[in-house]
Amino acid sequence: MDMLPMRENLEPLLEALKNKDRNAAVEWSRTEQWATLEQLIAASSPPPSRPGSVAATDTSPARTGPKWPCPFCTFINDAEVQTCAMCNLPRSRT
Ligand SMILES: [Zn+2]
Repeated sequence: MDMLPMRENLEPLLEALKNKDRNAAVEWSRTEQWATLEQLIAASSPPPSRPGSVAATDTSPARTGPKWPCPFCTFINDAEVQTCAMCNLPRSRT
């Protein structure tokens, strides 16, 4: 199987990007080359992960502890921040 002449196919897109020519880029995206390229990308991408096989880091409990609600504006702030993200008041010590 021959490699596609990718560089040649991409040339018009690169040109469009270089010129910030959105229309040209859109035009290029409608070409058959892009459809082929999309298929290649899709084929080479890993399959979507199934539920239950998510990386452990995604499901592990937060390392930083519980979030805290701002006593002034009630915004729920991340545990690692010591000032409210909304009103910038310091976290209550109690
Ligand atoms: Zn606040």
